[in-house]
Amino acid sequence: MISATLPDHITGLLVDGEWTTPQSGQWLDIIAPAEGQPFGRIAGAGRADVDAAVASARRALSADWGRLNAAERGRLLSRAGLIVQERAEELAELEARDTGKPIAQARADITACARYFEYYGGAADKVHGDTIPVQNGYFAATENVPHGVTAHVIPWNYPAQMFPRSIGPALAMGNAVVMKPAEDACATTLVLADILREVGFPAGSVNMVTGLGAEAGAALSEHPDINFISFIGSSETGVAIQTAAAKTHIGCTLELGGKSAQIVFADADPALVIPTVVAAITQHAGQTCSAGSRLLIERAAMKTLLPQIVEAFSKVRVIMPHMEGQLGPVISSRQKTRVERYIQIADETGLPLLASGQMDPGLSPDGYFIQPRMYGPVPRDHRLAIEEVFGPVLAVIPFDDEADAITLANASDYGLVAGIWTSDSARALRVGRQMQVGQVFVNCFGAGGGIELPFGGMKKSGHGREKGWEALREFAAVRTILVRHD
Ligand code: NAP
Ligand code: MG
Repeated sequence: MISATLPDHITGLLVDGEWTTPQSGQWLDIIAPAEGQPFGRIAGAGRADVDAAVASARRALSADWGRLNAAERGRLLSRAGLIVQERAEELAELEARDTGKPIAQARADITACARYFEYYGGAADKVHGDTIPVQNGYFAATENVPHGVTAHVIPWNYPAQMFPRSIGPALAMGNAVVMKPAEDACATTLVLADILREVGFPAGSVNMVTGLGAEAGAALSEHPDINFISFIGSSETGVAIQTAAAKTHIGCTLELGGKSAQIVFADADPALVIPTVVAAITQHAGQTCSAGSRLLIERAAMKTLLPQIVEAFSKVRVIMPHMEGQLGPVISSRQKTRVERYIQIADETGLPLLASGQMDPGLSPDGYFIQPRMYGPVPRDHRLAIEEVFGPVLAVIPFDDEADAITLANASDYGLVAGIWTSDSARALRVGRQMQVGQVFVNCFGAGGGIELPFGGMKKSGHGREKGWEALREFAAVRTILVRHD
């Protein structure tokens, strides 16, 4: 069993560079999904707490934080990356306990976390403006200026990755940040914020307000003194965030849900495709925005590749976080009920069950475990083919030919990512360039954590780009300066 807990000195909210208790007087339990038991508490910030955090960030912009140059900001981020690497095991254990994911996945998340700090640390002093040729007698240039106070609302599925992914580029560009992590899993984000404090981020540059979405999240996103919102979460909450941003005339990026397609042609390499399509829906119990939840398979491969995928899926093991296996529980009892409802719909509507995963006998009876399921063929208009389940449930949908695959893949309200599996590279490119999504993977999926790769959606999956260099552009406004010198 994993026994990691939040350090004692992290006593609630981070405001003005100090840990404080909430003015709201509210506390929320930290629950371990694999144990179904609390192992600590977080503050439930109210409106006054959010006001204090935003005011702290505002002050920081004209105090020590605002006076640092880009290289100094980058150095602080890089230093944080080194500390994360040094404390990797402690962080991974806390992440595994808090989210329920296997420790191996949590370790990978911490490696990615350090890499985000390293990437944005290195980038901070390399975001250049332009000079622009204009009429004789004038000089024109642009510079990238921070928005000011940026608000960050993130989900519970990958908190250790979402934290640096969201605030890393914002800090690199010189914004002061206020983060509202998800109530269901945020312990690691508090330790990471504490690491930023330790490495020397000046008071008020990084503020943390834990609490409920409807209270702390809403208070932050509606706050009149923030200048930008970066949101990662559900499409429904995305509407609330964008509405709030519209009311205060600020910009936002929305990284929302998905119903991503894995398009498997009959000529795909079995050694590549089989383990990857299974992992793409079982990783973190399917609670990944870019989960490959629709397996589109060419009819010609239904008797060749599909049985091999079914066999691999049947071997998937549901485990406790300290064990070796593919997935742990879902995040909460509420999420378990939600996913089980989809399984019930699948069964009641007579969808053929192709495979189900294995439950380790050592699972805690109180954990929120779900046996992974693979159904198919799923009719194209079935809820399982359309809606985001956010659980370990795979819908298999056959297609006839290339044109049908493209139509089917794009016949979704969502547009986050797509995977294409074929040994015909011209076809891969032809199909890939017609996908209405933000990221296309060919003969791979979710490769390398994608820190360097711009990521984000089209359609109901949101707008704006995180990760890579693109994220730096989102966290700055372009100021144009025109000087007459004749
Ligand atoms: P969610 O309910 O939208 O929660 C996301 C965050 O928003 C949490 O911190 C939540 O707080 C907060 N929140 C909820 N209501 C709010 C409001 N009215 N105002 C401001 N903040 C509010 O999403 P979820 O169901 O927990 O997370 C899963 C969803 O996120 C899935 O749809 C998944 O696809 C998506 N996701 C997308 C990406 C991506 O990069 N595209 C990555 C991960 C997840 P509390 O939960 O603390 O109440
Ligand atoms: Mg939630």
